[in-house]
Amino acid sequence: MAAIDSNMHTQTQIGAWINTPKPGVTLQIRNDLPIPKPGPGEILIKLLVTGFCHSDVHSIYGETPMDTNIAGHEGIGSVVGVGPDVSPNVIGKRVGLKWLYSACGNCEVCQVRSVYCPQQKNSGRVSHAKHYSDLAW
Ligand SMILES: [Zn+2]
Ligand SMILES: [Zn+2]
Repeated sequence: MAAIDSNMHTQTQIGAWINTPKPGVTLQIRNDLPIPKPGPGEILIKLLVTGFCHSDVHSIYGETPMDTNIAGHEGIGSVVGVGPDVSPNVIGKRVGLKWLYSACGNCEVCQVRSVYCPQQKNSGRVSHAKHYSDLAW
């Protein structure tokens, strides 16, 4: 059974929205973006701080699209929800969210440097973690 922090009273988040990825695009600060629900094996993280890295620049330019149109996929936050098969004991824990979510650990590339694993999963791209931001601007 999924669980959500009872202190979470909103259904929307604030985010820097990438409407149409292309060079020179202007990000829109929106406060009406739906908060995703954690599925099986997932946690929902409320970001307190997010970085803005070179992957975000590539995403904004449309060069390496992400799974989300919200910029900022790394940072620090708190767990505010868990999927059906995740212990609710992690709700309220401080966590970090990084680019490399997972690598296979078995391929030739991983033997040298797993950050280049061709089977890797990334936060904001193909990951099991979900996050939302509620930043003060
Ligand atoms: Zn990044
Ligand atoms: Zn690998």
